[in-house]
Amino acid sequence: MSTDLSSAALEVLREVFGYSAFRGPQADIVEQVAAGGDALVLMPTGGGKSLCYQVPAILRQRAGQGVTIVVSPLIALMHDQVGALLEAGVGAAYLNSSLSPERAAEIERQLQRGEITLLYAAPERLTTARFMAQLQALHERGLLSLFAIDEAHCVSQWGHDFRPDYRGLATLHERFPDVPRVALTATADELTRADIVHHLRLEEARHFVSSFDRPNIRYTIVEKKDSLQQLQRFIRHEHMGTSGHDAGVVYCQSRRKVEDVAAQLAAAGFNALPYHAGLEQATRQRHQDRFLREEGIIMVATVAFGMGIDKPDVRFVAHVDMPKNIEGYYQETGRAGRDGEPADAWMAYGLQDVVNQRRMIDESPAAEEFKQVLRGKLEALLALAEATDCRRVRLLAYFGEKSQPCGNCDNCLQPPQTWNATEAARKLLSCIYRVQQAGGASFGAGHLIDILRGKRSEKVEQHGHATLSTFGIGADLGESEWRSIARQLIAREAIRVDAEHFNTLRLGEAARAILKGEDQVFVRVQSAAPARSRSAARQRVVTAEANLTLAARETLAALKAWRAQVAREHNLPPFMIFHDATLRAIAELQPQRLAELEGISGLGQKKLEAYGAEVLRVVQG
Ligand code: ADP
Ligand code: ZN
Repeated sequence: MSTDLSSAALEVLREVFGYSAFRGPQADIVEQVAAGGDALVLMPTGGGKSLCYQVPAILRQRAGQGVTIVVSPLIALMHDQVGALLEAGVGAAYLNSSLSPERAAEIERQLQRGEITLLYAAPERLTTARFMAQLQALHERGLLSLFAIDEAHCVSQWGHDFRPDYRGLATLHERFPDVPRVALTATADELTRADIVHHLRLEEARHFVSSFDRPNIRYTIVEKKDSLQQLQRFIRHEHMGTSGHDAGVVYCQSRRKVEDVAAQLAAAGFNALPYHAGLEQATRQRHQDRFLREEGIIMVATVAFGMGIDKPDVRFVAHVDMPKNIEGYYQETGRAGRDGEPADAWMAYGLQDVVNQRRMIDESPAAEEFKQVLRGKLEALLALAEATDCRRVRLLAYFGEKSQPCGNCDNCLQPPQTWNATEAARKLLSCIYRVQQAGGASFGAGHLIDILRGKRSEKVEQHGHATLSTFGIGADLGESEWRSIARQLIAREAIRVDAEHFNTLRLGEAARAILKGEDQVFVRVQSAAPARSRSAARQRVVTAEANLTLAARETLAALKAWRAQVAREHNLPPFMIFHDATLRAIAELQPQRLAELEGISGLGQKKLEAYGAEVLRVVQG
């Protein structure tokens, strides 16, 4: 690869973005794309995908090759991304349905005059006849430089965000086969990857696959008891600072639950807002804006909230309901800690979650083969939740990556004690068998546990189950221990949940080996008090600021107040003006002259010119 190109790329990185070095595979990707090759970039959230097309776009524009078209699925985000580029002095614009016809016409004129380096557009806009004609005109003059297709997994039905409009993007390649393309996504699995290559016709593209590890995220999965209480405790213990709580996202399965949890958190004094597809568009927009623009908002949301939420300082993602599969869990938790600083992924889950998810699959109108895939995916997540060894090792293994125990998940930090529950598991399996043999109605976990524990419930009496040989043989264990054994057995497919018959538990494939004594079952010892010490991660966050001198802390507060005002004036989220880390570096340095600001990460040439003097003024108080 040419050293000229790579030194020019580094120059752009420093001058425009104020960063000193590329991260991981960024340098290679930038070279490949800037030189006119196709690329497929798989990089986790927070890995730094944007620079992979922004730097080539700038290089190619400077070389007279014209404009880069960025395909992005979310109108709401285009505004902020373009705003951030303009702040950095890069000619950028977006075209979407939120613009007036006059404004759109003006941008089209700028485009043809060659004044735009990066043009963001929604896929449905791109493939209109009008826009295609614009592109054609540019292409004829040699001014159509590059297509960047962000969130490329939207083209795949296997992804979690299928958007039919993405399928139309193949026409870009058919119409302009010589224009290079880069497709980017944070979705890793094989099926989705193959779909992207196929539907976007990227057979020739070089693949850049990063590790999907997010080392700064600490994974914790707890047994659900009273999820709302548990959630509040978690936030209070781990995410409460001197000036309020951190920004976070709480995911729920249903709209009703979202409303519920948001209301209860708000009543308990948290700064919480609901977000789901059933809310009016204007309300959703307002809540999203507040989440981005204010500090310390907790968004309680369904999966409708998330894709492309570009907020770098989300400090925790909590699940009070279990997601559908590991892909979903990984995507949603991945929205925490994009800035690389410590963040939490916390989930509470219980038997009911598994039962609910199973029912949703069974009751969906999909084909049986498709349902089978979904069930397999659910089971993999359940196995992750039930794991007593490193969560990260399992998570990465799911995406085909080998790794060592991480030291930053609940199981690594506090290895759970396990006990040999093989005997108890056999009792439960036998009980299922006996009840099945006795015929008649079908029974779920609660009833079976009543029988085992020798509880003469109304239903037990009614069905004569107190006479079964398994009645009362499990009285030595508590209800929650039995539930934990049941979950473990479901995760291992020794028990199947039959949703069509009122969540009846039935024996599964793996039951035999356990009943015959060929397989053992270990489950986690239930701890009476789930209290956890303050986390190492949290302490690191606290010390990041506590390490500052008193003077520096005052400066930081003044800088944040100043940033908030600039952000309001520019109608941008504060982190798009300066990241926290940049402000912290300035506060530590206490610069007296402009030249001292130059080496600070995140301060490019344009920002130095625009804000340098004001920053000095704020620092000098
Ligand atoms: P992604 O789109 O992959 O989730 P982004 O492009 O939003 O990630 O980048 C995540 C964060 O990392 C951003 O705040 C970005 O400014 C920062 N970043 C990216 N590359 C670098 C780099 N080479 N040096 C310093 N910061 C970087
Ligand atoms: Zn671990």
